[in-house]
Amino acid sequence: MTRARTGLDWSSAAHWGGGRRLPCVHCGKGAFCRDDDGRPSHKTCAEVVMQRAQAHGASNAAETTTGVLDMGSDAA
Ligand SMILES: [Zn+2]
Repeated sequence: MTRARTGLDWSSAAHWGGGRRLPCVHCGKGAFCRDDDGRPSHKTCAEVVMQRAQAHGASNAAETTTGVLDMGSDAA
């Protein structure tokens, strides 16, 4: 079983929202998954946030969890 080292493992049932699509806390679009805190979130969004938080330092993690994904202005 291969697993990306930088990716999250959301294979457990705790990360499945039961088929209900709720607005992702990061990008606002409908997401079926839930993050570690039970909030609706895309796995890819959570990975981006996690990686950016690691890049900027753990002290900024709380601030970077909201509004970090500004779709359109950061095409990279
Ligand atoms: Zn999202």
